[in-house]
Amino acid sequence: MDGERTILRLCTVCHDAMATRHTDAGHGKTFSICDRCQTAARENFIWVCTHCGSVNMQPRQSFLRQLSEAGYEGSRANYAKRQGVLSIDKCMECDPQGVDQAVKAAEQRFASGHC
Ligand SMILES: [Zn+2]
Ligand SMILES: [Zn+2]
Repeated sequence: MDGERTILRLCTVCHDAMATRHTDAGHGKTFSICDRCQTAARENFIWVCTHCGSVNMQPRQSFLRQLSEAGYEGSRANYAKRQGVLSIDKCMECDPQGVDQAVKAAEQRFASGHC
């Protein structure tokens, strides 16, 4: 043992596998995550609602493109620097008014099928 604490927890994202590592999700939060989700987070943004625990995944490249097309260049630049697993205080379902405006705009564009 190297002194590192081993905490057996289910993966925060899929609730389906044992977490093998922790990831910094921003806002001072740390999530437990499994290997599979860690791999998925390289190609996708994964939002985890800290209020209800719901998980929303979108392909990284297309989400960045959506932000750009929606005119959120500042947000796009911020997201481009961030890793894949992100915490949000409230998801669309928990608080439709309180969601990050950039995320909402992109989600609406996905929902409308615009490409
Ligand atoms: Zn997982
Ligand atoms: Zn929620």
